[in-house]
Amino acid sequence: MTTFSYWEQQCLDSVDWVVVGAGLVGLQSARCLKEFNPKSRVLVLDAHAMGNAASLRNAGFACFGSAGELLDEIQRTSEAEAVSLYEKRFFGIQRLLQRYGSHQLGFEATGGMEVFSAADVAESDRVIGSLPYLNQLLEPLQPGGAFAVCDTRPTGMKVLDQGVMAPAEGGLQTHLLYQTVRQDALAHGVEIYEGMRVLGWVESTSAVEVQLENGMPIKAQRLLVCTNGFTKQLMPAVAVSPARGQVFVTSPLPELPFQGIFHANQGYIYFRSLGNRLLIGGARNLDFAGEETFDMSVTSAFEQHLKAYVETVVLPGSEVDFTHRWSGIMGMDNNRNPLIGWHSDRVCLAVRMGGMGVALSSWVAEEVVRVVKGDIGI
Ligand SMILES: Cc1cc2nc3c(=O)[nH]c(=O)nc-3n(C[C@H](O)[C@H](O)[C@H](O)COP(=O)(O)OP(=O)(O)OC[C@H]3O[C@@H](n4cnc5c(N)ncnc54)[C@H](O)[C@@H]3O)c2cc1C
Repeated sequence: MTTFSYWEQQCLDSVDWVVVGAGLVGLQSARCLKEFNPKSRVLVLDAHAMGNAASLRNAGFACFGSAGELLDEIQRTSEAEAVSLYEKRFFGIQRLLQRYGSHQLGFEATGGMEVFSAADVAESDRVIGSLPYLNQLLEPLQPGGAFAVCDTRPTGMKVLDQGVMAPAEGGLQTHLLYQTVRQDALAHGVEIYEGMRVLGWVESTSAVEVQLENGMPIKAQRLLVCTNGFTKQLMPAVAVSPARGQVFVTSPLPELPFQGIFHANQGYIYFRSLGNRLLIGGARNLDFAGEETFDMSVTSAFEQHLKAYVETVVLPGSEVDFTHRWSGIMGMDNNRNPLIGWHSDRVCLAVRMGGMGVALSSWVAEEVVRVVKGDIGI
């Protein structure tokens, strides 16, 4: 029979909040809960060391949505909703930069460039023609202009000569962001335990009894679920589906004619410089159904597709090899807004971060506290 020491049980005793998931959302939400009530005990539990989901497996874009994506979102929802989602991402990045500073996050203000391939003339006309309208919509947020037409020729890419630059975007070093956020949570008194897979919970009128795979007993006053793409494993009825993102990094290149972050194919393909390497990812639109999975492998079909894209469009005429390949799981739904609020009396949710959860995460953490304070609810 597995036994647990008195001391182990002390670690899990008299807990106010159990936060499930030590990703960027869980860690920042825990920090904000602790800041809101410094006397409370806030524990973050994660099944894995270093998360193993999205927060250390993303592309490190500090981005808010390209002009093309914003137009699509306006069509799918409404001007007000699309701008509100854009605002949350924009505010989220500003908050991270204000709190920690660019240096701590490895942030480089390169701007983000949207490029169009020769087959995308109509899309390019649509997007570039709509820039005055989009800039006016975003004027209160970015008075200098959220988007501007730019010349893509200096990049050497095989794309249309005109692209769209979003000057406020840039690249982060994902590991620095994660380490900084984790350290900050610890410094605020949050306790983090990894290797703790939550299987479920039983809620009573006085507490939530959390069931762990390792059998350790733990009771808390409240539970916050921050499992994003894995939420359906715990709560099948919640509207958030897994969406795998595959990423590849080249070996160091003799020459990389550009630095910065780039969006292509309506945002489905993204690439960026990592020093003299190129990181490329995405292309989920090749097989949406196949990528709705918890499986964290990479597939040769995606690898070949993205390699061909690099060799024909990004660095035309070159031959590249990938030295790093991985995938991560995002949490998606047709509704692109994060799902934040009380699920029951003692269980709160902060999930469904979509493709830009790095940008959203600090806004989400503050929203969790607003929900907990009772300012709003779902
Ligand atoms: C390939 C890829 C590229 C991306 N690129 C960008 C980008 O450039 N810019 C951007 O803004 N966003 C990007 N994202 C999205 C962003 O990374 C995520 O939205 C964000 O990291 C989500 O953070 P999170 O804390 O909600 O979830 P996660 O980081 O997924 O954390 C969830 C945690 O829950 C844990 N967990 C799950 N189930 C259990 C359980 N039962 N018990 C205990 N623990 C559990 C997991 O181990 C995990 O650590 C990308 C995502 C991917 C996958």
